[in-house]
Amino acid sequence: MTDIPADHPRHDSLVTRHRIEAGVEQGITSKQGLIAQGRGEAFDYLLGERTTESADAAARVAAAHLLRARHPVLSVNGNVAALCPGEIVDLAEAVGADLEVNLFGRTAERVRAIADHLREHGASEVKGLRADARIPDLSHERAKVDSDGIYDADVVLVPLEDGDRAAALGTMGKTEIVIDLNPLSRSAQVAAVPIIDNVVRAVPNIARHARELRGSDADLEDLTAGFDPEAVLAAAERAIRDATGGSERSPDGVQD
Ligand code: ATP
Ligand code: MG
Repeated sequence: MTDIPADHPRHDSLVTRHRIEAGVEQGITSKQGLIAQGRGEAFDYLLGERTTESADAAARVAAAHLLRARHPVLSVNGNVAALCPGEIVDLAEAVGADLEVNLFGRTAERVRAIADHLREHGASEVKGLRADARIPDLSHERAKVDSDGIYDADVVLVPLEDGDRAAALGTMGKTEIVIDLNPLSRSAQVAAVPIIDNVVRAVPNIARHARELRGSDADLEDLTAGFDPEAVLAAAERAIRDATGGSERSPDGVQD
């Protein structure tokens, strides 16, 4: 990997890009994943490559949902595995969740490579290899999940999920937390809790909130009940418009 000077103005973005390239080389990330990364980078640029206040609030609500869940599951795809393997393993530990490999372009080889990669980063158990259950109303390969994993989960975190599968999981009655940089993406729009942020920032941020909430007497139910997903999507769109000089056109001029 090329050395990127720490003072380079696009340091974090370039490091992230190199991790995805390495993921492709290791057989963890698909070529489609490279395209998804490009789309994500564009939105991150517009958001100022920072966690907005509303994304932080959504991350806290996500932590509360995961802590309250009967069976929380974190879904891991090739981009997440390449970008933040240690952080997703740490989040699973912080909230007592299962990790399940769940791929859009599923091959047994890539599922195994990702599971191995997560174990190298400290995961003790990784689901998604059995794939003995199906999400209803999705075509065969994309519907595959573990019966004692995502199929059974009441709360699922699906970072970078594709829109169809996100909608299908929601229809199964699961509380769905989506991390996606694009507030217009269907995945973000069908989520109970959309977090409009980069996974590399959002995943450790949810873990931080979870640990803080666990050590406090905060009412988790209150926190989840008062959440408005539409407001989060609107705040992200506003942040993008303001960053691109559209604030004059915004009637309320609200800053995120
Ligand atoms: P839709 O959700 O509307 O069906 P899609 O999921 O099919 O769209 P993709 O081309 O798969 O669209 O796009 C991948 C999505 O992942 C994009 O919305 C992009 O913003 C998001 N994304 C990519 N990299 C990251 C990242 N590092 N962190 C958060 N989101 C990301
Ligand atoms: Mg999407």
